[in-house]
Amino acid sequence: MITETDVGEIGRIYKCQFCSKEFARKSWFIRHACSKKKKFEEKTDIVVQKAFRLYVYWMRGNRLIRKSRDPDIEAFLRSPLKKAFIRLALFTQEQGLVSAYTYVDWLIKNKTTERYWCDDDVIKLDGFREFIGVHEDATDHAKITRREVEKWMLEKPDRTVEEFYSSLSPVRILAMVQQRKIRPWVLFTYEPVVSRWLDEGIYNPEVFYRINDIVNCAYWADKVAEDPEGSDIVTRIMEQAWSISQT
Ligand SMILES: [Zn+2]
Repeated sequence: MITETDVGEIGRIYKCQFCSKEFARKSWFIRHACSKKKKFEEKTDIVVQKAFRLYVYWMRGNRLIRKSRDPDIEAFLRSPLKKAFIRLALFTQEQGLVSAYTYVDWLIKNKTTERYWCDDDVIKLDGFREFIGVHEDATDHAKITRREVEKWMLEKPDRTVEEFYSSLSPVRILAMVQQRKIRPWVLFTYEPVVSRWLDEGIYNPEVFYRINDIVNCAYWADKVAEDPEGSDIVTRIMEQAWSISQT
């Protein structure tokens, strides 16, 4: 128990913002762990945050929630699946899987029970790598993104493709990556997109971190560097003449 005298002698007090308890020494304050503080730390922990996002994604993928009603983090922390998702978040990180979300897609597709989510069985992970292989085609990625650009241009007359790229903020790019409207081949190789998110996004670590969470930047940086033909394909598709009619 800390007395007022202790506080006076040291001349400085440390106060817990959660329970208002005061401490005379910093070391006591750091060691202090009331339930509110613990809960806050848990909620802000990056692994827990990632686990929570995977949980929401998995719930959606299994159609366990409606679009408009995502569970909040409180619900996640109470969920019996919390531990499984924290393990999954760590597992996908340790294994350097290209995208934790694609891995979740794969788990859902194979109806994998939670007991086997973090199984580092080589054959199983090879199966996953094969699965993502078909999701990594430069042509597909460019076509998907180009379709999105086209949709955007058709929304209002007189919109130009240049305006599309200049209107891309890092936060919008993040949203489009999340919704799979901008695919990694385009994100990492197509100059108008790369310059938007790198030039501006580099100053926005939150965006960078979130994008990395979805697409694994290190993996893609290596992949596109090893395959210059892929980036040529992307540029060719993205820059094909537009034949859409704007009225
Ligand atoms: Zn406290």
